[in-house]
Amino acid sequence: MKIIAIGRNYAEHAKELNNPVPGVPVIFMKPDTALLKDNKPFYHPDFSEDIHHEIEIVIKISKEGKHVSEKFAANYFDEIALGIDFTARDIQSRHKEKGLPWELAKAFDNSAPVSRFLPKAQFADLHNINFKLDVNGQTRQSGNTSNMLFSFDYIIAFVSRYITLKKGDLIFTGTPQGVTKVNVGDRLEGYLEDHKMLDFYVK
Ligand code: MG
Repeated sequence: MKIIAIGRNYAEHAKELNNPVPGVPVIFMKPDTALLKDNKPFYHPDFSEDIHHEIEIVIKISKEGKHVSEKFAANYFDEIALGIDFTARDIQSRHKEKGLPWELAKAFDNSAPVSRFLPKAQFADLHNINFKLDVNGQTRQSGNTSNMLFSFDYIIAFVSRYITLKKGDLIFTGTPQGVTKVNVGDRLEGYLEDHKMLDFYVK
């Protein structure tokens, strides 16, 4: 399986990092070794002084798709989860300055914690889902899918023009504003509406 991620999909987050709001989705990938499941602790790597949390809704691809039209894209995912796109912001900034790729900042081991999945049918309106991240009991990020620049369906259509989607692939769909540094000892708790989905420590 592969993990595809969308950058700058919430305008307020793009602005907080002084990035332009994109006209087309910004895409990057993480390898399967980035996956961190079952609320296992995240061990802070020693190569970065500035690992940021980015809470995101994750969709799981349910069947192979190539050149999927937006109209039928909803048939290609059945479940959603909550994930964190951990980002080594210091490394990313250095690479951005030089116009270099982001992999070292985005694709490192355990940089993609993912919660259990819920059937999307459980949500009345996929374009109006609230989600949030609390750090040490305080809400740091809260978002609503109505603020996504590119919808789940658009993302599936866009990505599948370039990259075949396979059953089990995950797509991280972008983070709202409020990204900040995590520290050893932090407790991260993520909610999809009222469902507590993530609860783990940074060690
Ligand atoms: Mg992200």
